[in-house]
Amino acid sequence: MNNIDTANSDFNSVNSDSFKVYVGMDDTDSASGMCTTYICCVIMDRLKACGFRVDGPPRLIRLNPFAPYKTRGNGAVSFKMVLKSEKEIINAKKLIFDLVNELSVMEDPKTNPGLVFYEGEVTPELQSFALKTIRTIVKQAEAEKLADKLGVELFKFKKGRGIIGSLAAIGCPLDDVTYELLAYRDPANYGKKRLVDAESVREMNRKTYPDTFDNLDEGYVAITPHTPCPVLYGIRGETEDAVLEAHKLVNVSEPIERFKVFITNQHTDMHLQVAGNIAKMEQFQCYIVKGQVKDLPVVIEGGHVIFTLIDESGEVECAAYEPTKQFRELVRQLFPGDQLIVYGGIGRKGTLNVEKIQIINLAALYKYVNPLCECGKRMKSAGTGKGYKCPQCGNKIRNDAKEKVKVERTLKKGFYEVPPSARRHLSKPLVRGT
Ligand code: ATP
Repeated sequence: MNNIDTANSDFNSVNSDSFKVYVGMDDTDSASGMCTTYICCVIMDRLKACGFRVDGPPRLIRLNPFAPYKTRGNGAVSFKMVLKSEKEIINAKKLIFDLVNELSVMEDPKTNPGLVFYEGEVTPELQSFALKTIRTIVKQAEAEKLADKLGVELFKFKKGRGIIGSLAAIGCPLDDVTYELLAYRDPANYGKKRLVDAESVREMNRKTYPDTFDNLDEGYVAITPHTPCPVLYGIRGETEDAVLEAHKLVNVSEPIERFKVFITNQHTDMHLQVAGNIAKMEQFQCYIVKGQVKDLPVVIEGGHVIFTLIDESGEVECAAYEPTKQFRELVRQLFPGDQLIVYGGIGRKGTLNVEKIQIINLAALYKYVNPLCECGKRMKSAGTGKGYKCPQCGNKIRNDAKEKVKVERTLKKGFYEVPPSARRHLSKPLVRGT
């Protein structure tokens, strides 16, 4: 894999005349506009234009999808500067601070930006904090305590909750990575229909899949968001080259103000923890859990499909919600006794939101039918307690017992996943491997 991230490993490569400064930021946007990735790009471009050195690609780190204060996809960003003097550090920090202050949606009561600067080594403790933020819910006080211990410089705008994500974006270890190229709109077009040529996206997909993925969903363009944010489209892929190549193939009828490739933990399953058993799973965390289907799946109001997964420790309600579309059809075919490994997260109501399943074993399914006659024809009941009679040859039998016949299951063992439009940012698509 083309791993161009240097953020966690190259402390020594910065020579003695240079100073390395990590920058993390989060919680700058609101549901009605802006995007932390965009602010990051504007800042990086401005830094470069002013002669400051930004090293490597920016990082887009997705955090716990169940975090209570998230706006959309719970993403935080970070990047690294390599600067020549204390004066440069002061000037670069001021430039960044001013732009975060200017571009964040401060008027939204739910926006509480955080900006952090860190001149030290990414320690195991900082990495653990990042993983904790990706897998559990953390308190702001914990982030502040860690920052204090490591000597991280924190800037809190309003409540400053964004410092949690900012620290995590710097600390997140990236072993498995993907890349996302984000193209941004001219601000004059924010909120307007996105003018991306669908056929060119299909062609791009034909040429670059699976090096890029999640471009289409049932033939429809999946790279454009549906929010009024600055993003025109995002192309996800295995390497920086793949997403750059794909970007060249997409035709648009509106200006692209700027674009940037982020290195990211998206689509790596980093949010999932292996659950020892069902009883050990906690709300607002994501798991890989093994169990058996307890009851027949049911469709509830809204088109959601629900079933119960059971093991020796307890049971949990599992849901394939309406947005998972055709995946629900698969879930509806599950049968009591089917053995599964379920990948998903426990939401507000304690239900496991299914992202992927592996069917390990299918329960044997039987039906009871009238016996076959010696002549080969299926017999008919001769009346209660009177056995069966053949409608073809008239043969009669007194025995009332039905014949147990194995039913061929339409489902097959293997992995199944929700479609791209319903996929969590952190969920690893099957095309990336299992
Ligand atoms: P977007 O994806 O559009 O950038 P978002 O969905 O990332 O928006 P934010 O506006 O960044 O949402 O808000 C998320 C807030 O929750 C941030 O303040 C972040 O620091 C905080 N946060 C993120 N993960 C956790 C967590 N695991 N525990 C507690 N707080 C968290």
